[in-house]
Amino acid sequence: MTREEDLCTGLDDVRRRVAAACLDAGRDADEVTVVVVTKFFPASDVRLLAGLGVVDVGENRHQEAQQKAADCADLDLRWHYIGGLQSNKAAAVAAYADCVQSVDRAKLLAPLARGAEGREQPLDVCLQVSLDPPGADHRAGVDPDVLLDLAARAASTDGLTLRGLMAVAPLGADPGEAFDRLAGIRDGFLVEHPDATWLSAGMSGDLEAAVARGATHVRVGSAVLGSRPSVP
Ligand SMILES: *Cc1c(COP(=O)(O)O)cnc(C)c1O
Repeated sequence: MTREEDLCTGLDDVRRRVAAACLDAGRDADEVTVVVVTKFFPASDVRLLAGLGVVDVGENRHQEAQQKAADCADLDLRWHYIGGLQSNKAAAVAAYADCVQSVDRAKLLAPLARGAEGREQPLDVCLQVSLDPPGADHRAGVDPDVLLDLAARAASTDGLTLRGLMAVAPLGADPGEAFDRLAGIRDGFLVEHPDATWLSAGMSGDLEAAVARGATHVRVGSAVLGSRPSVP
């Protein structure tokens, strides 16, 4: 098989899984956007994916993302930044990303807005919510207790559009249980931010559980592109 055939097969499989999960949940398949996570894979794969109809791509490391976005500047793509973000890199990310999904602290807002100044449209942002149990070794994400404070600040930052929430199910936990909690957190969030309806949840291994609980965006890497080299 050629690389293009490989990617086409992976993409078809993911689209079928999303459609089946939507059917099970009584949702329309077009309510869910597949963001193909291309981290570790070359710009040539992004180009093949664009040829297969992919519009939304995700990256989690700034330098790699910046280079790939530049290499693919001629393509009509939406770049989602989904990785950990240092405040001294945030302005640079806002210059090429169309959506930053991993905003987890107020300190990022001003540099993101500054980096977005040259854009025609405000920068879309999602707030990444931590689903780790309290006291767990902290991975990324804002503590649900202070989510609404961060949301108020994001919503009132010129140059940013608050689109919704993002989360990653904790490793080793039942994703259904984690996404149930996320859905509850989102209900409270939507009372104050009714237009911020995006819910980015679900990856290759747990997208069905996320779609069942209202995900509007799934971030899928390995199920489309194959397994990545392990992170050093
Ligand atoms: C890598 C990554 C994904 C995609 O993971 P797969 O298991 O390969 O689908 C999704 N979300 C985030 C935040 C990631 O870093």
